[in-house]
Amino acid sequence: MTFNDNVRIDTGKVSRRRGGRGGAIAGGGIGVAVLLFFASQLLGIDLTPLAGMAQGGTVQDQEVGFEDCETGADANENTECRMAGASDSLDRYWTEQVGNYRAPGVILYDGQTSSACGTASAAVGPFYCPSDESIYLDTAFFETLRADYGASGGSLAQMYVLAHEWGHHISKLVGSLNGAGNSRGADSGSVRLELQADCFAGAWVKDASTVADDRGTPFLKPVSQAQIADAMDAAATVGDDHIMEQAGQRVNPDAFTHGTSEQRQRWFLTGYQQGPTACGTFDVPASEL
Ligand SMILES: [Zn+2]
Repeated sequence: MTFNDNVRIDTGKVSRRRGGRGGAIAGGGIGVAVLLFFASQLLGIDLTPLAGMAQGGTVQDQEVGFEDCETGADANENTECRMAGASDSLDRYWTEQVGNYRAPGVILYDGQTSSACGTASAAVGPFYCPSDESIYLDTAFFETLRADYGASGGSLAQMYVLAHEWGHHISKLVGSLNGAGNSRGADSGSVRLELQADCFAGAWVKDASTVADDRGTPFLKPVSQAQIADAMDAAATVGDDHIMEQAGQRVNPDAFTHGTSEQRQRWFLTGYQQGPTACGTFDVPASEL
């Protein structure tokens, strides 16, 4: 997905924190194990890792500005500017879709930072914290995505992760987050919640090229079929069945938390083709999930 170069980005919807360090921090460099972990977590981030997060630790970090992110050209060049631009687009899109909408916080950080759900770090990956209604994104993780997927695939994968996490916020606003619980299994609340987030992400991708800044310039250029295919690939790699196979495990539907590759692709496409009102993953029987 590519921004129109001259679109103006309102960066007030995102904050950026630098230099976050907690009591214990891993040494420099990203090991192979961590990279594999990143790959398995792509688009599959949810609330589950937070159960193991340390509560109440102090993280020293600093809020920094976004003076370098003014236009779509900046967003095409720079990962953090891309997140700021996509956040502006997502916010304007969902304002039109949801009654009594309120924006989530979007916090880009490096190292570690504090959230109402515990300490956020690279080991946790991107997540949405319902308690403070904020999305936490580690910028090093996003650079890794870009390196792994190349420039165009990387930008799409990055924006899809953000749109998926934004989808969790929408689920909170419309009330479906409450009933989800922390369950596992093929038709569990967790799986329904994750598939709903995939569907909401698809809904935004469909209309992303029509969402415009205050002067009427659309944020994003129309998405190509090749980019949709990339998104499908990304959704397939993060299916529970695929992740279990990659890890050399037996595919065990009772342990599913996000849905299969086929389900994640299908719900993304449902959103992409039919919009957010078709994302009722809690309303369908298990056989249609
Ligand atoms: Zn999720």
